[in-house]
Amino acid sequence: MRTPTVGGNWKMNTTAASARSLAAEVAASCKGSKAEVSVFVPFPYLAIAAEALAGSAIKLGAQDAYHQPDGAFTGEVSLTMLKDCSVSTLLVGHSERRHVIGESDSLINAKVLAGLEAGLEVVLCVGETLDQRERGQTDAINAGQLALGLAGVSAEQMSRVTVAYEPVWAIGTGKTASAQDAQNAHKAIRAMVADVLFAGQVAQGLRIQYGGSVKPANAAELFGQPDIDGGLIGGASLKAADFAAIVAAAS
Ligand code: PEP
Repeated sequence: MRTPTVGGNWKMNTTAASARSLAAEVAASCKGSKAEVSVFVPFPYLAIAAEALAGSAIKLGAQDAYHQPDGAFTGEVSLTMLKDCSVSTLLVGHSERRHVIGESDSLINAKVLAGLEAGLEVVLCVGETLDQRERGQTDAINAGQLALGLAGVSAEQMSRVTVAYEPVWAIGTGKTASAQDAQNAHKAIRAMVADVLFAGQVAQGLRIQYGGSVKPANAAELFGQPDIDGGLIGGASLKAADFAAIVAAAS
């Protein structure tokens, strides 16, 4: 039985004041949840959110990191710095980083490996664009992003990896994959992990989140699918009550 897991990706939103109050509200409203809950907070507000989450079971996550430990990498943030801010979970390969910022699969892989090496939990995002979906390439795209993103990860390290399947066309658009389409993609991801990348035991333990316009109204149907183990939530994670309702649907 896999413990459900829900992440709230705040993206480039909040202020110091609203990050503090949102983190405090999430801690209060998700108290006692059976799901594992994380919030992915903008870098400048990590320390503020850490204070507000102190004593709660909510994990503090970063939306990105650089894979090098220190040095001449102007503008980047290291894993050591993130750990200093109480970060325990790292989001890697979000579609906005792949498609807006232009991150490659090899950079994403370097970040996955560095995050695991630093002892963090890693959420690796994969997913197809609308064009790829219309060409019937969903499973092939997910398989390629998984194989490249997880290259060099050991079976033992996989216990700290979560995969987030996020069809790019569903993120922030209000369009959601149908529960059956999402289940089909998740099943194919689990089969790929079992048959090609690792083994059945690793695949059975792997948590696979669905992301893409999850709301309180559609969460229960999505999370009710056998291979959907929770969600990665963008817009709806900025309202504590909506996020808590989604967490409750996963629990
Ligand atoms: C996301 O940011 O990962 C996401 C899924 O966003 P939204 O829920 O707004 O579609």
